[in-house]
Amino acid sequence: MSAEILNGTRLAQRIRSQIRQKLKKLKFTPGLAVVQVGDDPASTLYIKHKQRDCEKVHFHSEVHRIPVNITQQVLIDKVMELNVREDVHGILVQMPLPDTIDAQVVIDAIVPDKDVDGLTPFNLGNLFINRETITPCTPTGIIRLIELTGEPIEGKHAVCVGRSHLVGKPVGVMLLNRNATVTYCHSRTKNLAEVTKEADILVAAVGKPEFITADMVKQGATVIDVGINSVAERLVGDVKFEEVKEIAGFITPVPGGVGPLTRAMLLENTLKLASR
Ligand code: NAP
Repeated sequence: MSAEILNGTRLAQRIRSQIRQKLKKLKFTPGLAVVQVGDDPASTLYIKHKQRDCEKVHFHSEVHRIPVNITQQVLIDKVMELNVREDVHGILVQMPLPDTIDAQVVIDAIVPDKDVDGLTPFNLGNLFINRETITPCTPTGIIRLIELTGEPIEGKHAVCVGRSHLVGKPVGVMLLNRNATVTYCHSRTKNLAEVTKEADILVAAVGKPEFITADMVKQGATVIDVGINSVAERLVGDVKFEEVKEIAGFITPVPGGVGPLTRAMLLENTLKLASR
């Protein structure tokens, strides 16, 4: 039997409508500032989507575009300027940054109270000690999609393929905080398929098109595909969707799975920070 598709677009719409309801109680407009370095077309498109989402829930949003050849200090100064703006409640530095810039140093410059993607050491530290306040958007969206299955996370074996600070590592901690048994896989993992085949919940955050194939998946597993890969002008995930959906119990599509949830969580975090 074919897997049930976890529809991220529909869930994101529901979350936006809840945000609009909550906003009625606020006496001011939440503000999100996005900083983009350079003009990478994919980043430009992602930012456009984020701005459109802000419009949908009546948030203020602004984009600060900085030339690709600036020094790290110029970028840090921009973050510092936004840190003290009263009308800006969330600051997002769009990744990836040029190789000449140390992304973590820039993230460190964001005050935790405006760290809308939950990536500062303060917010990640809170996540680590199971005090989830502002958690990273993509991992939080992944948890919402897993919750959509209606099946408990507790006691499940979750396998995260990928261990980036942005996705793999924090989503593993969030699953652990919910009492899953968590295994991390990465580029040095031996016998990857043997490990992934043990997963009740399989999160693929690798950045390699259609990397997870049906023979790597346990019958009935929940498969969350985080990957966004452009192949022949088409977007594909890290999971070979057509064949894995015949094995999995639940699966997210690409596009229309994790992506919309990441953006919905950005709005939710902005509202949380603005409400503080
Ligand atoms: P990343 O920083 O490049 O991390 C990729 C991870 O995959 C690394 O931990 C790497 O291992 C691991 N890996 C690479 N080759 C592997 C292999 N052969 N076997 C097992 N593991 C392997 O990427 P990321 O930022 O986590 O993003 C992953 C994907 O998600 C990308 O396609 C990205 O575009 C997408 N993404 C989507 C959203 C969304 O909202 N949908 C948000 C963020 C990212 P090592 O650590 O050993 O190098």
